[in-house]
Amino acid sequence: MTNKIKLLSDRVINQIAAGEVVDRPASVVKELFENSLDAAAARVAVEVEQGGRRLIKVTDDGAGMSREDALLALERHATSKIKESRDLFAISSLGFRGEALPSIASVCELVLVTREPGSDAGIEIRADAGAIRSVSETGAPPGTEVSVCKLFSKVPARRKFIKSVPTEFGHISTLVSNMALARPDVHVTLIHNHKTVYDLPASPDLSGRLRNALGQDAADSLAPVDRTFTGALSKGELKVWGLVSLPSYTRSSTRSLHVFVNRRFVRDRLINHAVFEAYRTLVPKGRYPLVVLFVDLPPEAVDVNVHPAKHEIRFRDQAGVHQSVIEAIQGSLEQADRRGAFRTRLHDTRKEREEEPQAARGQASDPETISGAARAIERFHQKTETQMQKPGYGPSRPRVPGPGTRSRESDTGQVERHHRAGPSREREAPSMEGLTFSELRVIGQAGGSYILAESSDSLVIIDQHAAHERVMFERLRAQFDSERVLTQPLLFPATMELTLEEAQEVHDNQELLMRLGLEVEPFGGNTVVVKALPALLAGVDPEKLVLDVVDRLSELAGGSALDRELEEVFAVMACHSVVRAHEAMSIQEIKSLLRSMDEIKFPGHCPHGRDAVVRIRMRDMDKWFGR
Ligand code: ADP
Ligand code: MG
Repeated sequence: MTNKIKLLSDRVINQIAAGEVVDRPASVVKELFENSLDAAAARVAVEVEQGGRRLIKVTDDGAGMSREDALLALERHATSKIKESRDLFAISSLGFRGEALPSIASVCELVLVTREPGSDAGIEIRADAGAIRSVSETGAPPGTEVSVCKLFSKVPARRKFIKSVPTEFGHISTLVSNMALARPDVHVTLIHNHKTVYDLPASPDLSGRLRNALGQDAADSLAPVDRTFTGALSKGELKVWGLVSLPSYTRSSTRSLHVFVNRRFVRDRLINHAVFEAYRTLVPKGRYPLVVLFVDLPPEAVDVNVHPAKHEIRFRDQAGVHQSVIEAIQGSLEQADRRGAFRTRLHDTRKEREEEPQAARGQASDPETISGAARAIERFHQKTETQMQKPGYGPSRPRVPGPGTRSRESDTGQVERHHRAGPSREREAPSMEGLTFSELRVIGQAGGSYILAESSDSLVIIDQHAAHERVMFERLRAQFDSERVLTQPLLFPATMELTLEEAQEVHDNQELLMRLGLEVEPFGGNTVVVKALPALLAGVDPEKLVLDVVDRLSELAGGSALDRELEEVFAVMACHSVVRAHEAMSIQEIKSLLRSMDEIKFPGHCPHGRDAVVRIRMRDMDKWFGR
């Protein structure tokens, strides 16, 4: 009897590995680009033809390879980046698996030209479907150039999955732009079909890269984030930095999240989730901020050996990372909110553009309605928007472990999402001086709904209901967090008839309702009695309030109302607050509202993310009138 089981040939093994690492032209570009960065290149040039189907060429001026190394590099599991298994737990290079080059070589015609800076001549290796055809000396500048031709031409099963030239090139340019964002210190060029798409000279910092990429528009409407946390990890420092959009600028997909962990572009649920958390009550549901965020931490605090293409990573201190990202972003947004840096939308009388579907975007975007740097990044990515969004990377609610109060989650599935108009005009420099609401001079009320006031340099318009809602929301939340929700007994307890289901809901959540300041007791059958309300909401209709809260609770995952969900409950409760639109307010009431706005976080937005404050600069007004 002959054996049925046989060891596979290296060639087949490489092709199998290629299936994981190289699934389309962009992944070839990724591996080659990463190798160039690992070789300490100051310059990386990517040239492709026909979306990478005909040619992918990556040239760098990095460390190069000796003849022996170059030959070894094409062998499976040959790497200069790690030596022993413990190195796997502290990876500081982008590559380490030693399988990219042999995998790529197994599915194309590959030419590798490389020269170490110290050596007289370069070496050229030609390989075809993994077999080395020739090795020769050649003249070459120091560095490495890898050309990949006829990708997948001998692997029909793979070739079938390659999409159109624009789609494949879209993936490539997204990838290259992310690499360029990750490493502003490297000169990056991208050429497609002999046309230069990017030529981005090295820049000392991130906003410099954006500026270089896109002309003079400065990073005006992006708030800088820069925080170092010393206690967040069990060992070592965690740094969170980058640029994040002000809440007035939102996008309709998570592709606007550019997250780098130790300078590696990742799509990480934990971090994305933390970003959404940071913006949660500031942008409407279904809208996403634009974020270029770097998370730097000791290499041993993150496991990159989770996914062959290394898109996914795993943090050792998940809760610490999650909470720190939230804090870092919220801190910077909070400052921006107080500065009133959010918006000057009012004088833009044109209808705001509804964002087109991603594919149709591009030229259609109206530059006037998008802010400086946000617009810059937008343009930067216009050509690069591709279908990178994978299911599961949206604001789904992954279970995040850990003790942080706001980091515990439950899976409640999709929530209904509102849509809102596209980004607003935003031209204010983040350096504008602070806005103290209580110091504003009140001019009056307009339309029964808006408070008009002025500061020394601007006209300030406040949506009274939205602002009041935010005040109530923040107070309820603060009281709840400190477990001291003040209640006020009702003079006449209100008896309510509910459905059986609702009554059950009240019964199941009685303790939670109590903590929310709602004293509601079952009264036999479907009847419940409301005995007390949160003091903050004194005067509201108790039945309506309880019904709304019970409704909301019943939508929550199995009654296990966690903090995130509770915020939705606070928002519902805040909605019942007394100051409404179309209601006259006395000057005392206005002043007390303004004072309250100084005491809370995020006075500029209602708890659903709508704007509560619009600030118009006098100097802008002067311009309207040609002064
Ligand atoms: P890995 O990057 O995981 O080590 P690769 O197959 O991508 O594996 O590369 C194998 C080795 O070839 C690398 O470890 C490195 O030593 C060398 N190498 C690859 N590309 C370059 C380059 N552009 N410049 C210098 N050395 C390179
Ligand atoms: Mg590599």
